[in-house]
Amino acid sequence: MVTLKDTLFIQFYTEKTYKKSGAKILIDNDYVELENTPHVPSYYLSNGFSSSYHSLKNIGEFHWVKYDLNGTLHDIVEKNKNLELPIKKGTVYVSAYFNCHLYQTYIWALKYPSIIFHVGGSAVDKKKIQDKLPKNLFLTENDIDSILPSEKIWGITLPENIKGKILLGYTVERNCYWGKCNFCTYPDKENIITFDPHFIKSLDNNHQYQIFLNSPALSPRFIKNEMPRLINSPNIEYWSHLRCDNKTIEACKLTLEKLKINNFHFKNFIPLTGVEMPSNRMLNEMNKGSSLKHILEFFKLFKKYNCQPAISLIFGWNSLISKDIENAKTFFNELYQITEGKCIIKCHSLAAKTNSILEKQISNAKHVQLGPFSLGVIPHLSEKQLKLNLELKEALYDTKFYYLIDASNNKYNDFL
Ligand code: SF4
Repeated sequence: MVTLKDTLFIQFYTEKTYKKSGAKILIDNDYVELENTPHVPSYYLSNGFSSSYHSLKNIGEFHWVKYDLNGTLHDIVEKNKNLELPIKKGTVYVSAYFNCHLYQTYIWALKYPSIIFHVGGSAVDKKKIQDKLPKNLFLTENDIDSILPSEKIWGITLPENIKGKILLGYTVERNCYWGKCNFCTYPDKENIITFDPHFIKSLDNNHQYQIFLNSPALSPRFIKNEMPRLINSPNIEYWSHLRCDNKTIEACKLTLEKLKINNFHFKNFIPLTGVEMPSNRMLNEMNKGSSLKHILEFFKLFKKYNCQPAISLIFGWNSLISKDIENAKTFFNELYQITEGKCIIKCHSLAAKTNSILEKQISNAKHVQLGPFSLGVIPHLSEKQLKLNLELKEALYDTKFYYLIDASNNKYNDFL
């Protein structure tokens, strides 16, 4: 007889530490590395099954797996490979946010041959498969609804014994409305998901939350129609990816004004903008569909409403010219002036992911593979390109933004 305990819904969570994350703050004009665990413990939940929580809990049991995400890609898979499951047979549905989660499911499928595994989530892309998979492992690129029809009512039970700040996701869009950047793999297609801003009422009020409104880049439609309905709460901070173009700027102008009328706490809204490489020539090469003028205009708008902005930058480009570095210096200075140095800066290393246009454009590169899954390539850098990337990094550090998270020295960070 099949019982609830024969069916599990597995989600992963991670306790956040600063170790090797590259987080640093400016103290007395010098950057100080944050090395230990945060003052308040914080947890990063990959809660991929939340959108159908109430239906799924009638089908099986939710099971959280603590997953250590510190270190290099190799360290991480080694540290976690002996994770056990509480059942030996049955059916297990896994939500894989990172490639490591996808790989972990592969390891389990080999270890538990009497369990059928279905893995979905943002890490799943069948084009990554390079080798034979175990017969009990099935990948789905679609929503869990395609396997288990379920009603979309959001919910969550937190992992036991966690106290502190909790980062979790609420998916508002699956694909990017732009979908053309050459290093990216998010297709541009219709992706309307019903947004219920009241979902926060199902959260336990004894915690502080960072809620990532998951979208590869919020569309003008979402910004205009749904964002004004966001609900304030003193224990909630909203984060989201926002790209800058004329349509999103116009939508944001209307929305921020509406939120102001609703007394929204803008300090609790953190828009994260992928600037990547601040030179118009490079933005064109990436097909970003955005310019430095758009980006700075956006940050002036954030300043007007006192939002806490953040940008991401990429290092490890193999096609820079000196003029790009000059443009970047000017941009960093202008951004510093607008934000008074209080823009959060996240630095990444270039990852040309499997099935991106960039992966096909790069000829001299190192291939990245995890078990049977191909994750993409890292471009080889000539001496000249290494020097230009270093100058870019120096220009950023010399600008002295208050808070940096520099993961650009870990070339595998964006393949996790
Ligand atoms: S990089 Fe961002 S804006 Fe560009 S296609 Fe990907 S998700 Fe969209």
